[in-house]
Amino acid sequence: MIERETITSLADRIARGELHAEAACADALDRIRRLDGELGAFLAVSADEALAAAREVDRARDAGRPLGALAGVPIALKDALCTLGTETTCASHILEGWQPPYDATVVTRLREAGAVLVGKTNMDEFAMGSSTEHSAYRACKNPWDLARTPGGSSGGSAVAVAARLCLGALGSDTGGSIRQPAAYTGTVGLKPTYGRVSRYGLVAFASSLDQIGTFANDVEGAARLLTTIAGADPRDSTASARPVPRFEAACRREVRGLRIGILAEALGAGLDPDVERAFFAAVACLEGLGCELVPISVPSSAHAVATYYVLATAEASSNLSRFDGVRFGLRETRGVNSLAEMIGRSRDRGFGAEVKRRILLGTFVLSADAFESHYRKAQRVRRLVRDDFARAFEGVDAVLSPTTPTAAFALGARTEDPLAMYLSDLLTLPASLAGLPALSVPSGFGAQGLPLGVQFVTRAFDEETAIALGHAFERVSPFQGAAPALALAP
Ligand code: GLN
Repeated sequence: MIERETITSLADRIARGELHAEAACADALDRIRRLDGELGAFLAVSADEALAAAREVDRARDAGRPLGALAGVPIALKDALCTLGTETTCASHILEGWQPPYDATVVTRLREAGAVLVGKTNMDEFAMGSSTEHSAYRACKNPWDLARTPGGSSGGSAVAVAARLCLGALGSDTGGSIRQPAAYTGTVGLKPTYGRVSRYGLVAFASSLDQIGTFANDVEGAARLLTTIAGADPRDSTASARPVPRFEAACRREVRGLRIGILAEALGAGLDPDVERAFFAAVACLEGLGCELVPISVPSSAHAVATYYVLATAEASSNLSRFDGVRFGLRETRGVNSLAEMIGRSRDRGFGAEVKRRILLGTFVLSADAFESHYRKAQRVRRLVRDDFARAFEGVDAVLSPTTPTAAFALGARTEDPLAMYLSDLLTLPASLAGLPALSVPSGFGAQGLPLGVQFVTRAFDEETAIALGHAFERVSPFQGAAPALALAP
């Protein structure tokens, strides 16, 4: 049942009384039970709470009470988002067993809109990674090819939506963690402008970059989710007070005449020929819609990977110092003789290899010897990236590139080579550094039948232009809402 719906179609059918929220929820839970043993999208499933929330929607509907915009829609949450009384681990052993004493603001807003929260999704530990293979708990597989990764770090959210285990999901995107897995799994992934969505209750990775965003099987669904979660929050001073439009209304906007810049730096070496072919097919589709496509350059984007891995690790080393074995989760006391030893041993046992690598790198770039040559320099390059984008947006309404240089890679292919893993984010990092909104939309398939995506980057707080373009594009793109073929277990 739910595999044929979208967020908006299901919400509308439930509101009209054609379908019970409880039945939709039961179907989602059944699909999770039959598919997720293999896929590994979820770290925790809250079946009882979800069914209770769904029944509450049905009662409200039957009583003629007004329903929220997501009433009865099964939604999943990346496990980096705090959920009151439900374990929140960030896929790390160090948070094992930790139950937050509060809901993240986005979680509160979803509940208020009637969303049925089905569970917490798998991810790279503390959102550090591009394949979900750094999860401390379980593997996560791409539903289009079970031998491949779904990307990351929000891989579980992407897989849950791609495999129709639910209809929408939240993720977080620091350097590409929504857009890259969206491209790899044939889902729509929307990273809003930095500051558009409150991060209260999102476990911090790199605070100057982190942003919560949405996954769905179509642009309208991703937009409706964003409308629900966006907006000012007294609990997060970085959440913008700008008014929140009804983002889904942008789907009806005319795109004819919009100017789209083709990012020259994205088309260089390293781009898979399949990706390039699909990209130029997308360009032709957009021209067919009456958009004007022109070449554009963001020269400093060539330095985005280096810049990001200095700044993000610096901020991570500072943010992750709070995990000390005292306040959260895991504590190692065996054979420990001092507080310092307890902290060291807890962190050693609790953090995985990639997280340790980031903490060490970040501590290094902030050290007296490296601060000027690395951290400060990276800050200056980041400013250049912002300025370059600002210049580009003087002449265009959106900047277009492939979302990723390749299609989903094989499980294990990049785990031994951190640099290869980091390069998976080559094309998503520039918008992150500039704090700009970016939308990944499925564009078609590569030769091996794997989905590919294109990315629309727009001006700060202009998610609507990206949504308008993405929606118009998805209607004419060769992808056409395709879903992976999956064998349901008994
Ligand atoms: N893959 C990038 C990293 O490992 C981005 C992760 C993210 O956006 N959370 O840092």
